Amino acid sequence: ARWGATLAGGYTAAAAREPKGVAVIDEDGEERTFAELSRRADRLASVLEKMGVGDERKVALLARNHAAFVHVLLACGKLGVDVLLLNTGLAEPQVTDAVRRQGVRVLIADDEFTPLLVNLPESAAWLSSGTLDALIDQAEDATFEPPEKPGRLVVLTSGTTGTPKGARRPTPKGLGAAVALLSRIPLRVGERMLISTPLFHTWGLSALQVGMPLRACLVLQRRFDAEECLRAIEEHRVTTMFAVPVMLQRMLALPPEVREEYDTSSLRIVVSSGSALPAALVTGFMDAFGDVLYNFYGSTEVSAAAVATPEDLRTAPATAGYPPLGSRLAVLGPSGEPLPPGEIGWIYVGNDLLFDGYTDGSRREIRHGLMDTGDRGYLDADGRLFVSGRNDDMIVSGGENVFPRPVEEALATLPGVLDAAVIGVPDDEYGQRLVAFVVAHPAARLDEDVVRDYLRHRVARFAMPREVIFIDELPRTQTGKVLKRVLFEDGWLAGNSRFG
Ligand code: ATP
Repeated sequence: ARWGATLAGGYTAAAAREPKGVAVIDEDGEERTFAELSRRADRLASVLEKMGVGDERKVALLARNHAAFVHVLLACGKLGVDVLLLNTGLAEPQVTDAVRRQGVRVLIADDEFTPLLVNLPESAAWLSSGTLDALIDQAEDATFEPPEKPGRLVVLTSGTTGTPKGARRPTPKGLGAAVALLSRIPLRVGERMLISTPLFHTWGLSALQVGMPLRACLVLQRRFDAEECLRAIEEHRVTTMFAVPVMLQRMLALPPEVREEYDTSSLRIVVSSGSALPAALVTGFMDAFGDVLYNFYGSTEVSAAAVATPEDLRTAPATAGYPPLGSRLAVLGPSGEPLPPGEIGWIYVGNDLLFDGYTDGSRREIRHGLMDTGDRGYLDADGRLFVSGRNDDMIVSGGENVFPRPVEEALATLPGVLDAAVIGVPDDEYGQRLVAFVVAHPAARLDEDVVRDYLRHRVARFAMPREVIFIDELPRTQTGKVLKRVLFEDGWLAGNSRFG
């Protein structure tokens, strides 16, 4: 208990309570019990301490999901040292900049990222994650007293809308997020959790944080592959999976005969987050894999905001559900007044888990104790939340406010459409006009007219895309968010100021 409610504390307790329980399994076949993990993290902590990490001398991690990732987080937790989690999609200048600005003493990276480390400042040493095992084996056993200050995890936002920012999250707050999750999602002790969303991102991290007090066995995957995922579910008897919508979409797109080769009957809970879950995907996924789907709406900044259970999703497939324990939700109008059901406004969230501000000193607006999510949406008469999109997704066309989501939802129901995104581009006459990007199944023979005819009866006249552009794949972040900025720039360039 002296360790407090931290990740390191949780694993120290798990090691005492259930030493032989399996804590982590990865794709290299590394499997560690709670006792091993805790002992090895102690040894790694002493190695890092000797390398000079400490207050304001952080550890940074640039790695995919494997056992070493968890070892590093725990070792730093034992020391009370801050960890900067770097997105594996960053370019060299962004990595260099983050390491320099965040005061990193030791950077631990997977070998595949070595080309990104060519300009590191001299003050930062680097270690290959592949050598950690040997370092740990050679180190002497050590024990650490709980640190006075728990270390913090600094998560970089993925920069969907600009340069990535560092968001500080004190680790004990991670446990509050676990409690929020548990209030709406029936996770149990000893869950077998598949994590194929990146651990450097808030969502993968929440899986780890909720898994720790439950003494869950973490099944880590480096990269998502739909069939590989089904295979892992069968092999490790996975009970819970943390996912983002595009993963579920790919699982569902596998031919039924491939899907049926694998026994996924152990799976009870699939939690999706990170971007909107299209209604067609919700229903399709639950018809194929059972009523196991939960939609979690939240962000790095406001933590848990709303959760929809399978029952909620069966009655309203597009909903983000209700706020979990400890969170409050409001949809406010332009002058901060709560809006009546059905009216789209700004989504605000309050709880004990709001982030401490960005590392560049900027903050998010607070009204009535609630923080601006940066998203818009509405509540229905039953208090269920519907997220329309980010503030900057909104398109103003001919004076009408349009969100891409309903158009994207409608496109997703057209047979032959695999993926779709809608953006607004400047228009002389209307201010902005809608452009749809569609990924079609090669055998589907869709063209612009078929798509527009289909939409004509399904979306408002002012929400009709004026152009439909077919592409092979939508650009996405590491966590499956569509990079609309890239679509905009590419469309702009491709058409040679066609959107100008
Ligand atoms: P960036 O803000 O640069 O994209 P990020 O990927 O780190 O960085 P997150 O904090 O993970 O950002 O993203 C949170 C945002 O993702 C929310 O504000 C919302 O726009 C969207 N989002 C997350 N979950 C859902 C959901 N279940 N339904 C709809 N939108 C969602």
